[in-house]
Amino acid sequence: MKEVILVKYGEMALKGQNKYSFEDILFKNIKFRLKPLGNFKYSSAQSTIYIQAEDETTDLDEVIEILKKVFGIAAICRACVCEKDFADIQEKTLEYLKETLEDAKSFKVEAKRADKKFPMKSPEICMELGGAVCEAFPEISVDVHNPEVTVIVEIRDTNAYVHAGRIKGAGGLPVGSSGKALLLLSGGIDSPVAGYMMAKRGVHISAVHFVSPPYTSDRALLKVEQLCQKMAAYCGDIHFYCVPFTKIQEELRRRCPEEYFTILMRRLMMLIAQEIAKKEEALALITGESVGQVASQTMQAMVCTDAVCKCPVFRPLIGMDKTEIIEISRKIDTFDISVQPYEDCCTVFTPRHPKIRPNLEAVEQAQEKGNFDDMIAEAVDGTELKVFKHADA
Ligand code: ATP
Ligand code: MG
Repeated sequence: MKEVILVKYGEMALKGQNKYSFEDILFKNIKFRLKPLGNFKYSSAQSTIYIQAEDETTDLDEVIEILKKVFGIAAICRACVCEKDFADIQEKTLEYLKETLEDAKSFKVEAKRADKKFPMKSPEICMELGGAVCEAFPEISVDVHNPEVTVIVEIRDTNAYVHAGRIKGAGGLPVGSSGKALLLLSGGIDSPVAGYMMAKRGVHISAVHFVSPPYTSDRALLKVEQLCQKMAAYCGDIHFYCVPFTKIQEELRRRCPEEYFTILMRRLMMLIAQEIAKKEEALALITGESVGQVASQTMQAMVCTDAVCKCPVFRPLIGMDKTEIIEISRKIDTFDISVQPYEDCCTVFTPRHPKIRPNLEAVEQAQEKGNFDDMIAEAVDGTELKVFKHADA
């Protein structure tokens, strides 16, 4: 029996004039993500993309698992293709949904007539098909309010489609439809979630991570790379920049007052990140900060950090509780990696008594005690790029 996957757009269906460019990007993203699984035929009509595998042995469950992580998709249906003829719809429904209907106690039929020329009206389709199901599966009964299975018949322009319900998509907007931003990715719980949330709004993500060997280990870097790999399932291929940060941190420790270490480190990270953002043509930076979470995430600290930033800094977690952030990190499967114990450069150089509400002038004076300009240029030069591919996620 011929099967097709119907992909229904979400919010972008409402974007009027822009709809076509959103649709083009979504189409491109879907093709790119499914490429490793085989060859597919694609078409689109009425805010739906139709995907058919050219090879019958292609595992459609695997296709659906990938599609569930593609932003811009509201719902996915795996359906059987029928002629626009009631007898064919009935015959195929009974066969295609046999196992589902055999095991269920209750069902209802829903009909959607996008083609208003189809000779039967929706209530008639529901009644006739419902009757045929009851006859073929005597154990099952009709329940229109709370059915275990909903048989959906969609009469569209060239064919009719039958399936047993929609699978929820990832929602949001297609990645790439909102430009590119650079994520400051640490090994913690928060920054991967921040990247996920911006990608969900259509932002194409690149990532930057700061390492301070030998104070930080290879194992700590590997952990961040694993996080990046996981994120690629949602974000698509990710350019990952690893910045050597040791000299800067040593200079900080040598010359600057200890209570300002963290805030200065954050400012220096921002200065370097902005140089990398320029190379990547990224328009903004993203961090995983949330107000009041730790000493360096007070509003005053953020004012001091942002004072060195010429581009916008997005902090999508700003108003979220840790428990809410953890919930998302579990959903996107980064939590277990994030809680591995390896130390990053922040934890290694944590001051004993950090300034919790730093004042910008004092921070600027503290920073002037170090000679950072050449070191920043050197760190940017020494940055290494790796690409994490969605296909390996
Ligand atoms: P996370 O859980 O993301 O590590 P956190 O609660 O530990 O965040 P901080 O250590 O204060 O918070 O870091 C705040 C933000 O600064 C991080 O969310 C991340 O965006 C960025 N950041 C911190 N350390 C690094 C690093 N080594 N490389 C890149 N970005 C970093
Ligand atoms: Mg951290």
